[in-house]
Amino acid sequence: MSAELLSFTDRGIYCAEGGFYIDPWRPVDRALITHGHSDHARWGHGHYLSTKQALPVMRHRLGDIFAEGIAYGEPRQIGGVQVSFHPAGHVPGSAQIRVERGGEVWVVSGDYKVEDDGLSEAFVPVPCHTFITECTFGLPLFRWQPQAVIAQQLAAWWVANAAEGRSTILAAYGLGKAQRLMTLLPDAGPILTHGAVEETTRILRDQGYNLPPTIRVTAGVDAKSHPGALIIAPPSALGTPWARRFGPSAEAFASGWMALRGIRRRRGLDTGFVISDHADWPGLNTAIRATGAERVFVTHGYTTPFRRWLEEQGYDAGIVQTEFGGDEADTDTEAEPDSAAESEAVVESKLL
Ligand SMILES: [Zn+2]
Ligand SMILES: [Zn+2]
Repeated sequence: MSAELLSFTDRGIYCAEGGFYIDPWRPVDRALITHGHSDHARWGHGHYLSTKQALPVMRHRLGDIFAEGIAYGEPRQIGGVQVSFHPAGHVPGSAQIRVERGGEVWVVSGDYKVEDDGLSEAFVPVPCHTFITECTFGLPLFRWQPQAVIAQQLAAWWVANAAEGRSTILAAYGLGKAQRLMTLLPDAGPILTHGAVEETTRILRDQGYNLPPTIRVTAGVDAKSHPGALIIAPPSALGTPWARRFGPSAEAFASGWMALRGIRRRRGLDTGFVISDHADWPGLNTAIRATGAERVFVTHGYTTPFRRWLEEQGYDAGIVQTEFGGDEADTDTEAEPDSAAESEAVVESKLL
């Protein structure tokens, strides 16, 4: 019997017959990258392969890399295996990576979400024998409302703040979430962006993604020049001198973690919008079923309870230790939610 098609090493998920790694976290010669978030697209590899759509932001973040873009669905022979990239619905350009050898198929999900956000290429289930899935929100308490509902909440909040003479500062991760939020907001006023958000937004807009106009915050752009504006900024900008230029303001964080009361409380936020670029509990289960896989490996997130759940459902399930995680964290320090949040989530989950 030949070795497994993919194996799990201390550098990342490895395909010996193709001589490549998928989203490796230590430098390797050849890396296939699911998407541009910094925990998946890291610096220092000899050669990168990603979707054409993911490449511009990766180049912007990683600098002068030797990289190649591939179209969604395009088959590519690498060594003894065939690979292809398929939409993951997580952020613009994000992909699941399919690897096939002699009729045996594995799929590495990367990060994904099932709901079509109208901006990212919509998730498609890819039939496979073995599915390696993230489970960032792999507990039953995580159930997202439809995007349209959150959009209404956001718009109403912005309009109310403006009516009270306040600016509105919305904190969101700079690749994907920030742009998704802009597309959800009706034309209630100008949308200002922190430089870190504007950079990514500009790159995506130049690629042809349909994004509303935004104004970069520079000297002279403040509450006086743009009263009642909405400002989209990285979470680290909340409560800083940078944010104070907008005068009296309402601040909120937009993340799946806002489903946890403890995290909202610790951040001192009166408002949090529960919106995530990862699959919720029903989404994970739907996606896994749709692959038809008999064997499932779970990566970052609530791996232990989620694996147990999958075994109860009859799957051959395992845990893969990875160094992924961070794009939905409650700070932008790329950290997983802390253990207090974790135990809170487990407790809340048991109450459901
Ligand atoms: Zn991600
Ligand atoms: Zn991730």
